[in-house]
Amino acid sequence: MHLQIEHVSKTFESVLALDDVSLEVGEREFVCLLGPSGCGKTTLLRLIAGLMQPDSGRLLLQGQDLAHVAARARDFGIVFQAYSLFPAMTVAENIGYGLKIRGTAKAEISRRVAELLELIRLPQLADRHPWQLSGGQQQRVAFARAVAVKPKLLLLDEPLSALDAKVRAELRLEIRALQRALGIPTVMVTHDQEEALTLSDRIVCMQQGRVAQSGTPEDLYNRPATRFVADFMGVSNLLDADVMRRIAPRFRAADALGGGPALACIRPEHIVLVPGKHDGQVRAVQFLGNLSRIHLDVGGTLLLAEQSGQTAFAVGDWAGVEIGDGAGTWVRAD
Ligand code: ADP
Ligand code: MG
Repeated sequence: MHLQIEHVSKTFESVLALDDVSLEVGEREFVCLLGPSGCGKTTLLRLIAGLMQPDSGRLLLQGQDLAHVAARARDFGIVFQAYSLFPAMTVAENIGYGLKIRGTAKAEISRRVAELLELIRLPQLADRHPWQLSGGQQQRVAFARAVAVKPKLLLLDEPLSALDAKVRAELRLEIRALQRALGIPTVMVTHDQEEALTLSDRIVCMQQGRVAQSGTPEDLYNRPATRFVADFMGVSNLLDADVMRRIAPRFRAADALGGGPALACIRPEHIVLVPGKHDGQVRAVQFLGNLSRIHLDVGGTLLLAEQSGQTAFAVGDWAGVEIGDGAGTWVRAD
C-alpha cells in the first residue's frame, strides 16, 4: 500500500471530528472521501497533508511513519475548492512555482510548464493572470501546478464544487484521465455522490467522523451496508421486511445481517412496472429528460420507479410491481 491511515482520531474542543478512521490508498489509486458536510473529510485530508496532527493513530507513506515529516517535506500536491492560484503570477509562473522554489533550472521549468499546459489544453493562456481565466480554467491550472513537481500523493478538496454543472462534468473526466496518465495516487474529498461514482477506484463513505463503508463505486451503489450509505449514494426505496413480503413475496429473506433490523434497498431503476396488473396506483410522474420517475402507492407504501425516457404511465393508472432479477439488497436499518 502507498498510504496507510491507521486508527486516526482528532478532536476539536468538544467535537470528535475523526473517530478511529483507518483506510489505505494503493499505488495508482483514485480514492474519494465522500460524505455530508461536517463528517470530517477536510480534517482527514489536512492530517494527510501534514497541516495538522492526529490525537492518536498514525499515517504511513510507503511504510514510513509521517509523524515527524513536515507538510513541506511530504511532497504532496494539493488543490482546494477555488481561488488558490497566486493572483500576481501568470499561469506559467503559477505552474512553475513549485519547481522554481526547489531550485530547478530555468530551461527545465519552461519545458515542464509547456508540457503541462498542453496536458491541460491551455497552451495559449500561459501569460494570462488568474483573474483573466474562467473558474474551470483556474482549476485546470491549479491541478497542473499541483502535479508539476511529480508529487507522491495528490490531495483534492472539493476542487470542482464552485464550478457550474457542465464545466464540473467536463473537468471530472479530464482530472481522471490526467490522474491515470500521470499515475499519481489521489485522495479527493467530495460531498457529491455522482462525482465520487464517476471518478473513484474506491469510495470511502464517511458519517460523523467514522468510515461508514469503503468499496468500489459499484459496491457502494448496489451493495450499501447501511441505510445511511444507501441514502447517500442515490435515490432508493428502503422497505421493511413486512412490506417486502407483501409487495415482493419472492424477494430473498433478510438472513445475512445477524438478526438486527434490516431494510430492503431497491434502486428505482430496478422496480419494473407492468401494465394490466393492480399492485399499486400511480400518484405522480416526474419527467427528468433522460428518465421518468414514477411515484406508486402500493397499499399505503410509496415506491419510486424509474424508466428511461418518457413513461407511458400517467397519474391514476394501476400497475403491477416486479423487482429485477438480482436487484436489491438488505441493509442495516441503524
Ligand atoms: P467536512 O470537510 O466533511 O465538511 P470538516 O472536516 O471540515 O468536515 O469538519 C468536521 C467537524 O470538525 C465539524 O464538526 C467541524 O465543525 C469541526 N472542525 C473542523 N475544523 C475545526 C477547527 N479548526 N476547530 C474547531 N472545529 C473544527
Ligand atoms: Mg470540507
